[in-house]
Amino acid sequence: MNPRSGEPSFRQSVDLMFTRAAALMDLPPGLEEKIRVCNSTYTVRFGVRLRGEIHTFTGYRSVHSEHTEPVKGGIRYALSVNQDEVEALAALMTYKCALVEAPFGGSKGGLCIDPRQWDQDEIEKITRRFAYELIKRDLIHPAQNVPAPDMGTGEREMAIIADQYARMNTTDINARACVTGKPIHAGGIQGRVEATGRGVQYALQEFFRHPEDVKAAKLSGTLDGKRVIVQGLGNVGYHAALFLSTEDGCKVTHVIERDGGLSNPDGLDIVALRDWIIRNDGVRGCPLGIYHEDGAKLLEAECDILIPAAMEGVINMHNAPAIKAPLIIEAANGPVTAGADEILRHKGTVIIPDLYANAGGVTVSYFEWVKNLSHIRFGRMQRRQEEARHQLIVDELERISRDSSINWTLSPGFKEKYLRGAGELELVRSGLDDTMRAAYQSMREVWWTHDNVTDLRTAAFLVSIDRVAKSYTAKGI
Ligand code: GLU
Repeated sequence: MNPRSGEPSFRQSVDLMFTRAAALMDLPPGLEEKIRVCNSTYTVRFGVRLRGEIHTFTGYRSVHSEHTEPVKGGIRYALSVNQDEVEALAALMTYKCALVEAPFGGSKGGLCIDPRQWDQDEIEKITRRFAYELIKRDLIHPAQNVPAPDMGTGEREMAIIADQYARMNTTDINARACVTGKPIHAGGIQGRVEATGRGVQYALQEFFRHPEDVKAAKLSGTLDGKRVIVQGLGNVGYHAALFLSTEDGCKVTHVIERDGGLSNPDGLDIVALRDWIIRNDGVRGCPLGIYHEDGAKLLEAECDILIPAAMEGVINMHNAPAIKAPLIIEAANGPVTAGADEILRHKGTVIIPDLYANAGGVTVSYFEWVKNLSHIRFGRMQRRQEEARHQLIVDELERISRDSSINWTLSPGFKEKYLRGAGELELVRSGLDDTMRAAYQSMREVWWTHDNVTDLRTAAFLVSIDRVAKSYTAKGI
């Protein structure tokens, strides 16, 4: 418990949500505790000579559950990283993977560092050394533990980790599968960078396909015209905001960043705003909207959908009573504390929970891992066959059109578009869409059919815990 805020820690918050769901289940004695606890957390302190002196860094890799291996989860670079946080995040990975049926246990890593303080070469040195420590202990390994990007890390760090692993394991033919989120030319997959934001979009699209669910959030209609607040325009928030505003007709009326917030009732231009933020290191002075010094206050603005996409704990007991959004989708991990969750639940706010909402990242990571292990690009073997089948249909349509007494032709562009078989990006997107739809349906079924379940988070935990429990029971634990 944090004595100042009166809130439980992040780890305790995840445990409380877990326990709330587990209480509704009939688990064999002791299994609840076995699933809940974190199996292990490794702490490492290492030194790197930089700028003429030795700097000591502290890093963690926590393994929450090994009911299925490898275990999976990102590596975060932030000053806020600590053991409690990586353990909470590792636990969320277990439930997230179970919910979207990615065959992994949960893990998470972190390095206590402000990545903005170091240049590229320095980050490379630090990352290599951290990776070396984890590889030595099989905490990075294609069959045992597969990291990925998280806050403060991206493709570049993943490429360095993959390279470090390959150097230390020269005979491992599956070396590339030791980490996901790599650049395409280092064994990555198309669509991984956008995956978490894309998953948030698919999650909302699926939510709006169910009128009863939309009604439960006191909303109506489709995504078109909905007013959206996005907190954090990093990789996840940026892609979610971009896709929702350019493809689904949403208006992103507020964006909250480190140095304040920006609002525009007509909707902010997300590409231009991101560009401004990168060039100016924040939103202050941006001419695209009105600047607000107190960015956090904008979480409480009128809107239809609130998307916290940065840190844990931003919606807490302190500001939850003032939140007006009828629908919150947790693009970040743990943005709503257990205390805030309780307050919002009583207010009737619908929350699409993190373990589902941001699972797009690990889903596409799963595709990348499979691609690395199979040593073939998605669709490479099927593409010609698919195109040949499409050609048959086009030939037939053209024959009918020639023979037909009615005068009709194929619309312009149809033939070219239809003949082009799906490339890797299309396959990744359709696989992600399918995953997000299926997971939502498993969750909503519990939400609507289980008498004691009144929220999507509890429903999501119920589905996940049940799957993890079945896996432990099958193994005889
Ligand atoms: N860091 C991301 C998450 O929290 C991705 C994890 C992964 O791809 O393994 O879900």
